[in-house]
Amino acid sequence: MRSERTAIGVDIGEHNLYTACPVTMPDWTGAYVISGDDVCTHLDELRAQTAAHLASDADRDTIVSAITAHHAAIRTTIDAAARTICEYATAYDDPVLVTEDSNHEPDLWAWLTDPDAHRGTAWLLPTAHRRLRAVAAEYRLEVATVPESYSSLECHACGVIGERVRNQTVCCTNPDCYVGGVYADCNAAKVLAQRYYPGQRCAYCPTRSGAPDQRHTAPDERHTSPADRHATPDGRHAMLADGGRCEHDG
Ligand SMILES: [Zn+2]
Repeated sequence: MRSERTAIGVDIGEHNLYTACPVTMPDWTGAYVISGDDVCTHLDELRAQTAAHLASDADRDTIVSAITAHHAAIRTTIDAAARTICEYATAYDDPVLVTEDSNHEPDLWAWLTDPDAHRGTAWLLPTAHRRLRAVAAEYRLEVATVPESYSSLECHACGVIGERVRNQTVCCTNPDCYVGGVYADCNAAKVLAQRYYPGQRCAYCPTRSGAPDQRHTAPDERHTSPADRHATPDGRHAMLADGGRCEHDG
């Protein structure tokens, strides 16, 4: 039964390479974060080096071997991060990793040589997705995908679409919700985990006029209170959630 499994949402990004949050976590602040800063720095260095090579009279083999070596090192770093996420997930009962549905093809050369290409969308995010799936297979962990729409803006507690007030912070716009500002990546990880279960979509998407947009309303969710949506099957899950955080922090 799908509903008996422990969905662990994994948001993938640049600043935070992987942010994992089990659906049973009582609060988004317990999400487990692996920084992507080192990978981003390495990628930026590789891009600068490739530009310098292309501007010089370096031969093709020199450029290819330099990129290949860096690529392997960067992939090793990503794989290590993915392994940490998988180890974290195995602390939970019957875990399933849940990511957003993303079908981009990573193209390192395109990003290295196109000044307008975005680091994340061109290479890092799709690569991090693929490496997580590959590493999860080693752990015999299932990776499910759910729609990504509004996952970083939807309030994990009430389902209302919030507003990004600073680069990393989203504020819930529902005056009846207890949630104030939330860290966007952690919120997204929890929302992705919730979306693994049937009917767990955002409650509504406010339009510019302020009227609820019922296209995003799940009928069985309209009258569900935040407390109901936070209900954990048993206390053990909540304890596991806290234990997982402490065990892997730092
Ligand atoms: Zn809310």
